[in-house]
Amino acid sequence: MGYEYVFGPVFSGRLGRSLGLDLLGKRICSMDCVYCEVGKTDTLTDERKAYVSAAKILEELGRWKQEGHLPPEVITLGGLGEPTLNSDMPEIIRGVKKLFPSMNVAVLTNATTMTDPEVRRELLEADVVLPSMDSLVASEFRTINRPCKGTDPEAIAKALIEFRKEFKGKIFLEVLLSWGYNDSEENLSKMKDFCTEISPDRIDVVTLSRPGTLDKAGPVDPGTLSRWKKVLDAAPCKDRECGPDTDVKKVSSTDTSTHVQGGDSAAFDRIQASLMRRPQTAQQLSKALEVPLSKVDEVIKELDISGRLNVRQTGDEIYYDCRLDDNS
Ligand code: SF4
Repeated sequence: MGYEYVFGPVFSGRLGRSLGLDLLGKRICSMDCVYCEVGKTDTLTDERKAYVSAAKILEELGRWKQEGHLPPEVITLGGLGEPTLNSDMPEIIRGVKKLFPSMNVAVLTNATTMTDPEVRRELLEADVVLPSMDSLVASEFRTINRPCKGTDPEAIAKALIEFRKEFKGKIFLEVLLSWGYNDSEENLSKMKDFCTEISPDRIDVVTLSRPGTLDKAGPVDPGTLSRWKKVLDAAPCKDRECGPDTDVKKVSSTDTSTHVQGGDSAAFDRIQASLMRRPQTAQQLSKALEVPLSKVDEVIKELDISGRLNVRQTGDEIYYDCRLDDNS
């Protein structure tokens, strides 16, 4: 039996070996960012509801645990949209902690829902919260993130500052720069003040490394990127402009020490599910999913033949990702 909502693990420069939980199952988000790696948002909404029930997600996670995989370093709530839109999130966080008592729980979020005090209260139960904030200039924010009507970046910034006062865990803030969209001096100045006030545990300033939803959305040049990093006191390179997972170790193509849980179709499903959420190299997939490299290569060929594979070269590395069918 495959997994619909558990994916990975993937190696993350910020979190380590991270097992993902998809709290939406579909492209449901409160934004439709021009750079989104999972494709265009199908349902743009700020309505919170149990898009996938806690029971379903926790049943899959329990099954994953029983299969005896190498434990990840962190379990991350994210997926194909904005995870905090799932109103079962607090139950899911508690359930994960019950299944894996010593494991950190991380939540990726675009932070739009954090203007709601209830969402902030729920997120207090996580160990790491990773909000993104691309622009505090209202017109830029609307153009790059294309949020639900009425979403105000200043209100989100205030909510994050409130959250910082109460939250005992770590906050890793991400700023994604796209040329001509949010790389203005006005934004840099506002972001600097915001970063000083919120004082996150880590700041990552990144740029696009592959085409986003809109073809015209492109990366900023290396000079702009490094200036923003310096001004915002961002973390050193372990992020998207270097290609995902720069810290992953190489796996030999003759490595037979890894094993496939559940046979061929399970390996296919796990590789496809992982590539739908994050671009990765064959070596990264092999290492993170404990699947022999030869099997990963076979699945990549199969996905290529089916026409669902995107291939991108970054430096010497070849990254693959797999988008959902547009009508799925
Ligand atoms: S990048 Fe994140 S916030 Fe933006 S549309 Fe995609 S899933 Fe939503």
